[in-house]
Amino acid sequence: MGTVLNLHGLSGDFRYKVLKPMFVNFLMATNVFDMPASLFARYLEFFDIERATPMMTWDRGTRRIYEALSAGFRDRVRLGRPVRKVYRQSNGVVVEDQDGVRETFDDVIFACNANQTLMMLDRPTMLERSLLSSIRYESELHNHTIVHSDSAVLPDNEVRPLETRSNHIEQYGARPDNYEITYIMHNQQPWANRSDKPCLVTYNPISKIDESKIVHRQWFQHVVHDVRQIALLVPLFQFIQGRRRTWHCGAHTLVNSQETCFVTGLAAARQLGADYPFDDPGARRAFNHYGRILHGWRFRKPIA
Ligand SMILES: Cc1cc2nc3c(=O)[nH]c(=O)nc-3n(C[C@H](O)[C@H](O)[C@H](O)COP(=O)(O)OP(=O)(O)OC[C@H]3O[C@@H](n4cnc5c(N)ncnc54)[C@H](O)[C@@H]3O)c2cc1C
Repeated sequence: MGTVLNLHGLSGDFRYKVLKPMFVNFLMATNVFDMPASLFARYLEFFDIERATPMMTWDRGTRRIYEALSAGFRDRVRLGRPVRKVYRQSNGVVVEDQDGVRETFDDVIFACNANQTLMMLDRPTMLERSLLSSIRYESELHNHTIVHSDSAVLPDNEVRPLETRSNHIEQYGARPDNYEITYIMHNQQPWANRSDKPCLVTYNPISKIDESKIVHRQWFQHVVHDVRQIALLVPLFQFIQGRRRTWHCGAHTLVNSQETCFVTGLAAARQLGADYPFDDPGARRAFNHYGRILHGWRFRKPIA
């Protein structure tokens, strides 16, 4: 994308005051100009930037999808047990948690970031090592996040962002591409509007936020969707999928968005024999399309 902007002679003002804040906002990543221009164009096709893109939201959040999908086997879901090491053997996979407790399974699906997978894998193959270590992450900007209810981070002006907007972005400091971004969640998610407090999420916070109004803090690393990752590394994943009882899903295997990451998990489950759980024909077509990208000719297309 950077090359396209240079070829067309687009100004620094346009890059840093219009394009970059918009894409940092879409993607929550910093080096957006490293992305393929085609991916940029796809995002612009998808988002209606003149009016707000109509959004479909789940009452009380996406956790409800996972609760519904796992309703039949909740008792077998282990939460709050970080994995320390994964040992692959000819007859199964041994997963060791942080306390050193080990359990054996038929297969393992890694649904974490590539560098975290590499830390956990005991004796990775040459291809696993080079592929997983080639995925780049950055956490220099826009990595610190605060969930809070302090509306003082928003300007008190005629736009009335607290009531009317879905986000507010403000550049600060010497770097032209350094922004504080506040998502005004109660305007994005109708169910959050039932609260008597604002529901705000501020990334890269520089404004002072009242400690008593902070609900949660989190730090993120963001996958870098540069041309190399999209054009070279994503297609190579099919060559390690399913090898040595090991499967991979998540942002680094396709595209960084909740829906596509969810699909990468469904595709891994499909490879292990699960059905595709939804009836929608359009969704099924998209699932088959992404499944082929993720698993190549071995992808087990769901029966229509
Ligand atoms: C701040 C922010 C805002 C975003 N907003 C949007 C949005 O509005 N819409 C959208 O579509 N996308 C959004 N995204 C992108 C979306 O959240 C990601 O694309 C998606 O969550 C990536 O899914 P994933 O499964 O690859 O990784 P993650 O969702 O990061 O999941 C990886 C999981 O692995 C766990 N893990 C790591 N190591 C271990 C271990 N050793 N043992 C056990 N578990 C481990 C982590 O705790 C984590 O839960 C946002 C991302 C960020 C960071």
